Amino acid sequence: MSDLRDLYQEVILDHNRRPRNFGPLAGANHSAAGFNPLCGDQLTLHLKVVDGVIEDVRFEGAGCAISTASASLMTEALKGKSEEEAQALFEGVHALLTTGHGTDSAVPLGKLEVLSGVREFPVRVKCATLAWHTLQAALHDENRPVSTE
Ligand code: ZN
Repeated sequence: MSDLRDLYQEVILDHNRRPRNFGPLAGANHSAAGFNPLCGDQLTLHLKVVDGVIEDVRFEGAGCAISTASASLMTEALKGKSEEEAQALFEGVHALLTTGHGTDSAVPLGKLEVLSGVREFPVRVKCATLAWHTLQAALHDENRPVSTE
């Protein structure tokens, strides 16, 4: 377990310091904004979906290390995935963060497994799920901003 904790801290710090896929996305055809009032995290997610496949994804915004790292890890995991696979990843991460176990999904969580470390800090779980709820809104073209509250 301490190995996982070390890995968790290392990955979170790395992705917070150097967020992957950060910035505007030219040609985006789905976007959504999310806000976590508990912590003040906010992010906007941009997706370019072509024939049901996420060709590109980027995010903008400002938040704590966990929200930024979770969004960064998510964008890495989503590229090249179908909308169904993205949904499976969402469900897997949601299960991981709420129960500590992934689902028996056909889509392996891979590096996203480190997010399970957030469970040791229950108040931060919403920081980690913000990007994922925003993804849901973007894929379903919900125009209302997402709030974790
Ligand atoms: Zn936060």
